[in-house]
Amino acid sequence: MNASGLNFLAVEDHEFQRGMLIRMLEGLGATKVTGAADGKAALDIVMARTPAVDIVISDLDMPGMDGMEFMRHLGEAGIPVSIILASVHERSLLTSVEVMTKAYGVTVLGVIEKPVTPAKLDALIGLHKAVRPDVRPAASGPPFTLEEIVEGVKNDEIEAFFQPKVELATGRLHGAEALARWRHPNSGVIAPLAFIPLLEDNHQIEMLTRTMMRQSAAFCAEWRASSGLDVTVSVNLSITTLADVHLAERVTELVRGQGSEPAHIVLEVTESATTTEVGRVLENLSRLRMNGFGLSIDDYGTGYSSMQQLMRIPFTELKIDQSFVAKASTEPAAKVILESSLDMAKKLDITSVAEGVESQQDWDLLRQLGCVVAQGYLIAKPMPVEAFREWAGNRTHLEGFEIGTGH
Ligand code: C2E
Ligand code: CA
Ligand code: CA
Repeated sequence: MNASGLNFLAVEDHEFQRGMLIRMLEGLGATKVTGAADGKAALDIVMARTPAVDIVISDLDMPGMDGMEFMRHLGEAGIPVSIILASVHERSLLTSVEVMTKAYGVTVLGVIEKPVTPAKLDALIGLHKAVRPDVRPAASGPPFTLEEIVEGVKNDEIEAFFQPKVELATGRLHGAEALARWRHPNSGVIAPLAFIPLLEDNHQIEMLTRTMMRQSAAFCAEWRASSGLDVTVSVNLSITTLADVHLAERVTELVRGQGSEPAHIVLEVTESATTTEVGRVLENLSRLRMNGFGLSIDDYGTGYSSMQQLMRIPFTELKIDQSFVAKASTEPAAKVILESSLDMAKKLDITSVAEGVESQQDWDLLRQLGCVVAQGYLIAKPMPVEAFREWAGNRTHLEGFEIGTGH
């Protein structure tokens, strides 16, 4: 059963309907179901994280804080829950609320036109594992403490995996993105969602950034020298580290120290509504750009006031979030966002990158729409450095990707 092992929150002002919903979820095997009568109560429960809620099923019309306001607060808090929206309203309104919710950076599994049935619920709950394959294997809150994570970083257990980025028009290798993995001595390879948010929340992320940057710069220098290819390596930079005005200098020194050059490194930054130190962030980003780094606006489309960010920051790359890429071939609204994002990148003369390219259909659509670079499981998953070397070696010999070039 899809629901087993998961914690649910049922947000519904109508007491009878709430009771029904709770029983339905329990019938589907839910481990724990909590009820809330409005957005405010729901938000308190989600924020408390004891235990962490996996899936929220929320009504839209509620007295006090309604479903839309609740979604906005969830987005601003950045809590990793999945949402199912349920309402009696017409499809077009539900779709617009779904798009709005995603625009706030919240994961939406889907919408249900009431009445809610076990079958409709079960189908959407089944998507949860697909969208969050890396989150908590057990539903009992974060599995690692801050101390354990910090210890792991200090012990050099963080390893950069690399995922290729390929040019859609030619199939040529464009570069790679470095993605952090924790090679835990007992628990195997741990995905970043299990340790990065905690490091960020506690202002300890720079340690991790440094080890990722060091590995990436060293690998980039070696890769360029051995392959003769003009490739770049992308590294994710948490916006919180950009509040320290000396970061740019430290990062630049670190990259040069590994025999690499800033011009061969792209820094991916996710826009965020919670940035308070706007001046400092801009000073850092401007200096990094001045020093030659590429700057990529990551997860484009999910954050807030994207347009404003683009105007202020000297970005060189626009990375369209995988949620739009994945749905563009089936959902008109997602396609519109994808198209306008690509259009904007073109007008600003910056490189467009689509992440989460999983199918031939995605690839063909992106190619047709003129997207420049693709990254995703269709091409390859993130790999340890040796596996990447081998993969890239074979790829160069093939002289171009065959995907999407016809039969
Ligand atoms: P992101 O920067 O948006 O990275 C893309 C994520 O999508 C990666 O997840 C990648 O493995 C995954 N992905 C790639 N292709 C596909 C695909 O075709 N389908 C699907 N469903 N997923 C795909 P990952 O490695 O779990 O990283 C999650 C997030 O953790 C990253 O999202 C990034 O925000 C953060 N992160 C990872 N490494 C670092 C790091 O070194 N520093 C910081 N600050 N954040 C990092
Ligand atoms: Ca990224
Ligand atoms: Ca993303």
